[in-house]
Amino acid sequence: MRPFTNPTGRALQAGLHHPHHLRRHPLVVKRFIGIPPAFLLDDYTPRHQLLTSVDASKKRSLAYAHLRECNLCPRKCGVNRYETTGMCMIGATTAKVNVIAPHRGEEPCIQGYHGSGSVFFSGCNLRCVFCQNHDIAHQRNGTDLTPEELAEWYLKLQKVGNVHNINLVTPEHVVPQVVLSILAARDMGLRIPIIYNTSAFDSLDSLKLLEGLVDIYLPDFKVWRDSTSKRLLKADKYTATAMESIQEMHRQVGDLSFTSDGIAQKGVLLRHLVMPGMEGEGREIMRWLAENVSTDLYVHIMEQYHPDAHVGKKKRVTRKSVSTGQSRSRTENEAHSAEGTGEVRYADINRAVRDDELNSVRDAAVKAGLWRFCEVNEQNSAFHL
Ligand code: SF4
Repeated sequence: MRPFTNPTGRALQAGLHHPHHLRRHPLVVKRFIGIPPAFLLDDYTPRHQLLTSVDASKKRSLAYAHLRECNLCPRKCGVNRYETTGMCMIGATTAKVNVIAPHRGEEPCIQGYHGSGSVFFSGCNLRCVFCQNHDIAHQRNGTDLTPEELAEWYLKLQKVGNVHNINLVTPEHVVPQVVLSILAARDMGLRIPIIYNTSAFDSLDSLKLLEGLVDIYLPDFKVWRDSTSKRLLKADKYTATAMESIQEMHRQVGDLSFTSDGIAQKGVLLRHLVMPGMEGEGREIMRWLAENVSTDLYVHIMEQYHPDAHVGKKKRVTRKSVSTGQSRSRTENEAHSAEGTGEVRYADINRAVRDDELNSVRDAAVKAGLWRFCEVNEQNSAFHL
């Protein structure tokens, strides 16, 4: 879903330097779409436009306060980010950004005709061993931007890119900077919706701070079992946090709704990436969503699992045991023997997802009562809305 890989500051410019390509391809032919009336909007005004100036200044003060004792994600480091950093390694005055560009790799209702104005933040509060963007998320490649500089980029995306929305990707650890940037951008003339594109490892405090500023929440509900989140995401209590967060997101913006052009304007779009051998967890997630969020929830069951980061890499051999010849621990011995046999790390998830695994999650979703899926209608190649 995130095709941009250039990890340099130059990449920030790449998406907007050549606006003429947009003129060469003006409007794609109208798609055949059918929007259920309950989710069709006559018109839409982004929520940040409706915020009073009193509420806006309250949010500004709260954003600064949170940075002084950071509890903005479930890690709850409690640090003053003006003086030091917590687990996410990002300070207070800027956010690190890897790429800003109109993006056509999102769901059709998000990318629309001109693309989604995506801002890919560097750093992350999770450490997924299969991360496809680990150069951005774990190594924090990118450029530091103040909230005001971010706001200027949102305006460029709107004006030059003619994008349908501002899509904040992996923003969980920079929520105060994001809030300040949206408030600055609305004063500068931003008039398109804001998307909060998250792993769902958010705290309720940060979601309250975002209330009234975000139009579309795009959470990825990743895994179901605590043992899995501990092993693969390096996070405790991921599932409980995701449940609480998704319910709060749905309380704020409801089910996904569209204007008549098929572009999503407000609501929750829930993603779940099916992982090899973990279709049972996917089925549990679908059941829980139907029973505890909404059977009208718009769901994208994703099949494009393609591991990177640590998955499939050779197991490591410690330098100490090699150079000193000292007796090795059991783990080190296992690593040595694995190296010899070509064994790799996280071998159980080092493969593509099979059709039967994918279908099993889809069937469970339908059985649970979910019915709004982001998938191609095979009869007319259109997308269900
Ligand atoms: S946002 Fe960063 S500093 Fe704040 S609690 Fe999370 S990991 Fe810690």
